[in-house]
Amino acid sequence: MSHDARTTVTPALRIIPREQHVISRKNISKAALRVLYRLNEAGYQAYLVGGAVRDLLLGGHPKDFDVATNATPEEVKKLFRNCRLIGRRFRLAHVVYGPEIIEVATFRGTGEEEGEGDRHIVDGRIVRDNVWGTIEEDAIRRDFRVNALYYDISDFSVRDYVGGVKDVEDRVLHLIGDPATRYREDPVRMLRAVRLAAKLNFRIDAAAAKPFGELGPLLADAAPARLFDESLKLFLAGHGLKSFHMLEQTGLLKFMFPATARALKRGDQALRELIERGLANTDARVLEGKSVTPAFLFAVLLWGEVRDLAHTWITKGVESSAAWERAATRVVAEQCQRVAIPRRFTLTMEEIWALQPRFEQVQRKRVFRLMTHPRFRAAFDFLLLRAAESPAISELGQWWDHAQQLPHETLAAALSGHTPPGPVSAEPAASTKPRRRRRRKPAGKAGGQSDPA
Ligand code: ATP
Ligand code: MG
Repeated sequence: MSHDARTTVTPALRIIPREQHVISRKNISKAALRVLYRLNEAGYQAYLVGGAVRDLLLGGHPKDFDVATNATPEEVKKLFRNCRLIGRRFRLAHVVYGPEIIEVATFRGTGEEEGEGDRHIVDGRIVRDNVWGTIEEDAIRRDFRVNALYYDISDFSVRDYVGGVKDVEDRVLHLIGDPATRYREDPVRMLRAVRLAAKLNFRIDAAAAKPFGELGPLLADAAPARLFDESLKLFLAGHGLKSFHMLEQTGLLKFMFPATARALKRGDQALRELIERGLANTDARVLEGKSVTPAFLFAVLLWGEVRDLAHTWITKGVESSAAWERAATRVVAEQCQRVAIPRRFTLTMEEIWALQPRFEQVQRKRVFRLMTHPRFRAAFDFLLLRAAESPAISELGQWWDHAQQLPHETLAAALSGHTPPGPVSAEPAASTKPRRRRRRKPAGKAGGQSDPA
């Protein structure tokens, strides 16, 4: 316990003056600047810190701005009307300006000097960290060197205690202190390494990546709610595909998504394609500023295991919808022991999966019932992702795509089987041939379970 970064790393301050770095106040949120100036005017030290400084140095636009200060949370509260204190494990002040929240954290220390607050370590893990300290101590308790940079509002310089500026230039992630010790203190730092490397296009220093194999299993003890938050940042922030590949390469995927890793290990190429396309589509949506839902993402990641389990049970004689329901329940229950996916999302995932076999039933009544299902759109998008599973699934996707574009009466007539193709369509040229050809194929399989290749 005594050999954490606080006792093994000696901070060495390098000050980069305003004219030697690219950070401009123009790119710092008004709210963050107000907090920094107010603290400073009240006689406290006030710094922008962490991801925001790192991202500003990289020329990016940080979405959140964190402030570090030597004022205690109570002292911060006295300075701001719009302030509330939060957190037990890690006490902080939140200063609120409309939609924006500035997180103000008091420097954390080693606990060896006098100071108020408490710090609690169990089996090498930090479970509480409320010992106030100096900026030097605060710097070395942070995870990566690039995350331990401080922008000083009093003279606009950047303070670098552990070599973070050089790492930003070299695009590399080094942990501060001994990697194994730092991961034992907080195993989620392994996932943070992967996430930041994926997000920033940085490499993970060899020494920082080396313990993953041995210490990855510690993620089993990480709080499932925290892993849920982390999984959203990994997969729904515009770099999901890259995160996924890096989690696989580093061997960490199996500790977060055991079912996904198992299904992929069975050599399922179609599943890999489905996941990669799903993540690539999600990344594209994020970059276009469109909404993305965690339910769809988790439905994609867990599909292989749900489908294989359902098929196994169906082969053993379990009725189809019961088999799908049971498979979904089992896979979700297992996954939620690792990553606490909220109920509102697991319900949607279960619906998306349960609707998949129903796409194979193209009798008239069933088609219209499925189309009006509240989850139809998501389930249909999911069906399209499954195209690589078999030519039959791919054709099914095309059939439903086409069916949705037809006017109601045209589709109804086509499904009843007495309308000659052609004249009823809004787009004669496009509709004539496919409609006739495709109508029969899915209908031929109606009611059955297609067996994906
Ligand atoms: P992002 O761009 O995703 O916000 P970030 O580095 O800002 O990345 P946050 O979770 O916002 O990540 O954390 C803010 C800062 O707090 C980090 O830059 C780091 O200095 C520190 N920090 C966060 N999590 C940890 C941790 N688990 N261990 C040590 N320091 C941490
Ligand atoms: Mg941040």
